[in-house]
Amino acid sequence: MAFETLPLFRDDAYLRDCEATILGINDRGGIVLDRTVFYATSGGQPGDTGRLVVAESLLPIGATVYGEGKAEIVHVPLEGNAPPDPGAAVRAEVDWARRHKHMRMHTALHLLCSLVHFPVTGGSIGAEESRLDFDIADAGALDKEELSEKLNALVAADHPITTRWISDEELADNPGLVRTMSVKPPTGSGRVRLVSIGVGDSVDLQPCGGTHVRSTAEIGRLMVTKIEKKGRQNRRVRLAFAEGA
Ligand SMILES: [Zn+2]
Repeated sequence: MAFETLPLFRDDAYLRDCEATILGINDRGGIVLDRTVFYATSGGQPGDTGRLVVAESLLPIGATVYGEGKAEIVHVPLEGNAPPDPGAAVRAEVDWARRHKHMRMHTALHLLCSLVHFPVTGGSIGAEESRLDFDIADAGALDKEELSEKLNALVAADHPITTRWISDEELADNPGLVRTMSVKPPTGSGRVRLVSIGVGDSVDLQPCGGTHVRSTAEIGRLMVTKIEKKGRQNRRVRLAFAEGA
């Protein structure tokens, strides 16, 4: 049976905890809540870790994933922890230090995307390091130092980050908005969320369901650590926090 979880992180990525009710437990012991602040793994961003506070006890959550049809969000307890019964009231608390790094990194990848005008073929976000793969035949098209400098200029300019919604049809009419070949924008619900960076979308505009910071200054200084050749056409750009997070 599929449930529906209200994804509170979508409208406010800064929520660290919420009260919720357990709707059900799946066959692998995963806990489905009616609402949550836990981001579920998707679009290259890892799902959150944290804890559920049930009565007086703490239940550590080691992963968060989507269940059937992306409507339900499943909180996976660390091994050896039995889930409470459906109907129980819980407080869901996200591991904020880790999540905030994901938000900074995720936003940094949008900046990288805005600077490298080639199709994105893959990507991955981590708390310490992230990467984007681009479809570029010319190995010399990217320079590590130059990219780092441009990224840090965008960070220092403190551009605001905002979101707005458009319909699936509007997105279909503007295919240029989609930068990633590997990750399809989350269509199907009738509307898609656009993430805008800069006043009047001056830096970047693309559909994205992830969590981002409010302004580019919050990302902190960045460093392109490596540009690797991955196959004939692919270049992998690796990013880290310059101050080691
Ligand atoms: Zn994003």
